[in-house]
Amino acid sequence: MPYGYNGKILHVNLTQATWEIEEPDTAWYRTYVGGSALAAYYLLKHLKPGTDPLSPDNVLVFALSAVTGAPVSGFNRYTVAARSPLTGAIGRTEAGGYFGPELKFAGFDAVVIYGRSAKPVYLWIHDGEVEIRDAAAVWGRDNLQTLEILETELNDNRIRVASIGQAGEKMIPIACVQNDLEHYNGRTGMGAVMGSKNLKAVVARGKNRPEMADPEAVKAIRKLHNERIKVHPPNVGLSKVGTTGLIKGLNDTGILPTHNFRDGTFKGADKINADAYHATIFDSAGSCYACSVRCKRRVKFEDEKYPLDIKMGGAEFETVSALGSLCEIDNLPAIARGNQLCNLYGLDSISTGCVVAFAMECFEHGILTTADTGGREITFGNADAMLWLIEEMAAGRGIGKVLSQGVKRAAEEIGKGAEEFAFHIKGQELPLHDGRGKSGMAMGYALAATGAEHVETPHDVAFQGDGVSKLSALGLHDPVNPLTTDMAKARFFAIGQKAWQMNNCYGICNFCSVPIHALTFQQLVDLIRAITGWDTSLYDMIQVSERGTVMQRMFNYREGFGPEDDRVIRRWHEPLPDGPLKGQAIDPIAFRKAIDLYYAISGWDKNGKPTPAKLVELNLGWLLEGEPV
Ligand code: SF4
Repeated sequence: MPYGYNGKILHVNLTQATWEIEEPDTAWYRTYVGGSALAAYYLLKHLKPGTDPLSPDNVLVFALSAVTGAPVSGFNRYTVAARSPLTGAIGRTEAGGYFGPELKFAGFDAVVIYGRSAKPVYLWIHDGEVEIRDAAAVWGRDNLQTLEILETELNDNRIRVASIGQAGEKMIPIACVQNDLEHYNGRTGMGAVMGSKNLKAVVARGKNRPEMADPEAVKAIRKLHNERIKVHPPNVGLSKVGTTGLIKGLNDTGILPTHNFRDGTFKGADKINADAYHATIFDSAGSCYACSVRCKRRVKFEDEKYPLDIKMGGAEFETVSALGSLCEIDNLPAIARGNQLCNLYGLDSISTGCVVAFAMECFEHGILTTADTGGREITFGNADAMLWLIEEMAAGRGIGKVLSQGVKRAAEEIGKGAEEFAFHIKGQELPLHDGRGKSGMAMGYALAATGAEHVETPHDVAFQGDGVSKLSALGLHDPVNPLTTDMAKARFFAIGQKAWQMNNCYGICNFCSVPIHALTFQQLVDLIRAITGWDTSLYDMIQVSERGTVMQRMFNYREGFGPEDDRVIRRWHEPLPDGPLKGQAIDPIAFRKAIDLYYAISGWDKNGKPTPAKLVELNLGWLLEGEPV
């Protein structure tokens, strides 16, 4: 068995209520490693092209990696993947917390789930044992109730639970998977896939910590890493205020998404920024497994109108912006309440905020009226309308039922020109970054196999200053302007993305690792060597990252996605109307050229399909399907 792993992949067939254990060899583990790469491998192998994402034939993967559960800050993330019911493309989403490490300690490196149970069930995985258990007691319950009932039923308050709320049970395409009430596999509708399988939760508990090749070396690097986290400015900021510090930074730069991605500055930003957050609703800092950064926020607020439960976690930057600036809402307790409603029901708070902002803009233009909203004025800035829409979406009632399908489908159903205000890429709503001020991020959104995604790609701050010096090991030495889309940007992005994607394959938090945060490339390589005992290198790890990206691209290609889907929203081709970057827009011709150049740099053909030679180089020849090389 390879160091760092259990050497076991669990395959569960819910239709037949059976399971079996695969024990891959070391070469396989070295090739696919974990996270997004390992998940893409199983989807390509076991999922037929054209499969209905909500049918029993969809395959759902929970994937860890060699490093999951190693006692190092940030080494706790895992991937959930399947064909997405939101986009039809590959669905993939990472989360931190404690669930991934606990699943590792319970005895498995990944769980691959097939079929559909005849009745609601949950998977109970503990110390190498597997049980498919009746979920009647938790079906219909929210995520908090589910956790509490399962703790009682299993007589253990240290279980770790990845569950769905009512949104997942209803197969709402923006439903998420949540673990331990404050960590989310938020994107691409993986909660709906769990619901379609009648799978309420995966519950893990275990005592087996896989052996590491050189535990003393891991300990030594962990010590250095944690010392650097205490002084490295981005990590110091995260420890102090979590991700909420971004509200002020982006607003001051003029790229805080506002008014459904029309504007880049929000006049109420001071009321929702980190200072306001910590003065009004902040209670304490939370963390993920073994992490010394502790960027999570826990909140409380004594108000019966906006009740907050400290157990449900606090809104992070993306949600504060999605339910706040994007909808022009400056009422922080209401935003925090909206976040907790999303988490109770299991709705992705990014997509939910985008859907609410879309509805508000439709209302502004008379496309939706009070006749659609039971007399409510769903105007920008109306916090109660936002909370009401979340309740309606989760309940699948009235206009909420239409909106819960995501902006693309909702606009198609509403008609009357609603498409003009439905902002998505490949069918997925946008995380809260304005590509007009971060053109590398815009490329990442356009090229993400999942549709718009912010953990796919380096943010443009990594293209400047300290970020560049950290990327110099990849041959990137010159800073690149965040506002330009040109040859230099395409090169920087194409190479930088490979470094960033390593984190999704190895299950490492971006806030702890290269290129922006405390860990250096050399420490990262040394850690992987010390955990696995592999004679690995940065080159080897970059190949894993690229393999993961290429497999996801191949998945999408066989589902009919093409170069026309690698685009950004029309609003980013329009000038920012005000703020420090007033007039800034993405030139569509330059952007298309940069995407085409990215294809060429990456060894993809002009249609954005990885060439046979690229597949062979990455040891993915099995994807050639008889094509000549
Ligand atoms: S930096 Fe924050 S999100 Fe990342 S592992 Fe640590 S606590 Fe979790």
